[in-house]
Amino acid sequence: MTFKDLGLDDNIVRSVTELGFETPSEIQEKAIPQLLTSDTDLVGLAQTGTGKTAAFGLPMIQKIDPTYRAIQGLILCPTRELCLQITKELTAYSKHSDGVRVTAVYGGASISDQIRDIKKGANIIVGTPGRTIDLMQRKVLKFDTVSTVVLDEADEMLNMGFKEDINEILEGTPAFKRTWLFSATMPREVERIASNYMTDPFKVTVGTKNSSAANIEHQYCLVSGRDQYHALRRFIDYSPGMFGIVFTRTRREAKEFAEKLMTDGYNADALHGDLSQAQRDAVMNKFRSRALQILIATDVAARGIDVDDVTHVFHVDLPDEIESYTHRSGRTARAGKSGISVALISPSKSGRIRLVEKQIGKKLDLVKAPTGTDICAQ
Ligand code: ADP
Ligand code: MG
Repeated sequence: MTFKDLGLDDNIVRSVTELGFETPSEIQEKAIPQLLTSDTDLVGLAQTGTGKTAAFGLPMIQKIDPTYRAIQGLILCPTRELCLQITKELTAYSKHSDGVRVTAVYGGASISDQIRDIKKGANIIVGTPGRTIDLMQRKVLKFDTVSTVVLDEADEMLNMGFKEDINEILEGTPAFKRTWLFSATMPREVERIASNYMTDPFKVTVGTKNSSAANIEHQYCLVSGRDQYHALRRFIDYSPGMFGIVFTRTRREAKEFAEKLMTDGYNADALHGDLSQAQRDAVMNKFRSRALQILIATDVAARGIDVDDVTHVFHVDLPDEIESYTHRSGRTARAGKSGISVALISPSKSGRIRLVEKQIGKKLDLVKAPTGTDICAQ
């Protein structure tokens, strides 16, 4: 199968070829022809890192009529980082599609710049729910010309409390439109969204429901809270060439771990919701360009974030939301690569391991921190 075989125009095929995409991924192969040829709603479920952005982005771009200067596509996603990333991807996919304009709308950045961009004639808006609502209320954004809505990482938007906002935004779109929902996990809330916002959606599933990417090695180490930092250091020290993300459950922990690592001479920095948008962008850019080796993050970075060649994901204790484990781990082993996920779990919380195993459909391997018999209990 080639991208051309899926029914994509030459302009789009040229753009993806320039990005180095040789053949479509499985979700792309299954979803794109369906999205191009029919007007049904669609739920697309596929493991992390398997190219869902292009699975919805390419057909959306093809369906845009650039001579019609109106917003025709709306993509909602949970975080600012993801919003910027999707915008960048779609801009690259539409490089040779003359006149297609993609605009990002997210909080913490100048609203007047975004208003100016929208007024230049955006065809596709990629937004976080909060800022999107804000701009609707200011009457800058109107969605009555929208024909396609994408909900990327819908369950996370609900976790973050955006339910009312999403309802209000969707009320501003025409009743007759296509709604496409994409996620790696399908918790009950997503099924509920699907039944609330979609009409008899076509379902495309790759892999088993909720399964994690096949090429991730899942490990865990039992280590009590006060020793987790030292265990983490051992793992880092014994993984030459590691380029990774350490997830913590709280902002405070993210700051603490980052500060300790920096004090101990590691190339680490923190990403969490207490930082300004400019600080978050700076940290993300540093990480993407590999000027930063270890990113310590809260779950703001768990969803959708695509950084090439992340080798390790660490979890400082398991997340409160079990789905989050799948998404966090999915920051590694993307686009066919492999990677390792290591959870540092307090023995008192080891009961949650079974929940994770059930979620991902795989066993986690018990390991010790390298040479760390004194740290990791059996
Ligand atoms: P998902 O949303 O499924 O987690 P992304 O859309 O972020 O995954 O894609 C993961 C990575 O794979 C991105 O870097 C993307 O550019 C790349 N990618 C997507 N489709 C292909 C393809 N057909 N061939 C090669 N790389 C691809
Ligand atoms: Mg994604």
